[in-house]
Amino acid sequence: MTKDIILKAEDLYYSYDDNNTYSLKGLSLEIERGKKVAFMGANGAGKSTFFLTLNGINRISKGKLSIDGKELGYSKKELIDIRSKVGIVFQDPDNQLFSASVRQEISFGALNMGMTEEEAAEAVDEMIETLEITPFKDRPTHALSGGQKKQVSIADVMVMNPEIVILDEPAAALDPKHTVIVNKIINMMVDKGITVLISTHDVNFAYEWADEVVVIHDGRTLRHGKPDEVFSDKEMLEMTNLAQPAVLEMFNSLVKKGLLAKDLTPPKNLKILEEYISLI
Ligand code: ADP
Repeated sequence: MTKDIILKAEDLYYSYDDNNTYSLKGLSLEIERGKKVAFMGANGAGKSTFFLTLNGINRISKGKLSIDGKELGYSKKELIDIRSKVGIVFQDPDNQLFSASVRQEISFGALNMGMTEEEAAEAVDEMIETLEITPFKDRPTHALSGGQKKQVSIADVMVMNPEIVILDEPAAALDPKHTVIVNKIINMMVDKGITVLISTHDVNFAYEWADEVVVIHDGRTLRHGKPDEVFSDKEMLEMTNLAQPAVLEMFNSLVKKGLLAKDLTPPKNLKILEEYISLI
């Protein structure tokens, strides 16, 4: 079966300083539609820079970028089109929210992509309801908590019915309650068939949640594969300062001691590991 590739990056270069230095240096990558992909790598590796090339905010210096089989162009029309297809939720909601009220904020993108007032109002109501924004829907955006701002910035993106959603460290600075809400929203996206790309430093989350893990290092793709394969590459983990997920480390240690069979599928979480252990 041929793969349904939604995102293809070929040898991308990007420079913030007129091609004196490059923050992306030949990054190549293919992502299949509907996958959950975790992006990892040290601060400064190029994850955010890459994300911002995907909706045209960062215009690539060299290389080729295709979304849904179409090469990215930078005309006004192409940019409006790509921004409705690829939604980016920034790490800091204050960089994203600029309207006075929650309702205005969520309407903005919908109206901008050509919905009528009526269609936009309906789409905004639906977002407010599904993303659990109702309790603070009438507040001005500046009066919201960090977690509530995050919910609104996700609604900003979701109201445009995107095919790809990118979340830059979504759990950063969230309290446990909002982490649960955001994770629920992410699962909702996945259920709708949206391709979700998340950058995170949390190896345990990436290991359990993702279908695929991409490790970015020095402006390139260093590793791209299934979580258990990527997180079994000790040399790569050391080079990029990534720890092995705790469950995988414990599983490997029990296999090494001969307590668990080495042909078992590596467990995704503690619950599955406990089941393995209970069968010993
Ligand atoms: P990551 O998201 O993996 O932490 P970034 O994409 O933010 O990495 O950074 C990649 C490189 O680009 C770093 O060297 C960083 O200093 C540089 N960089 C990022 N944003 C800017 C900017 N707005 N202006 C100049 N340099 C930047």
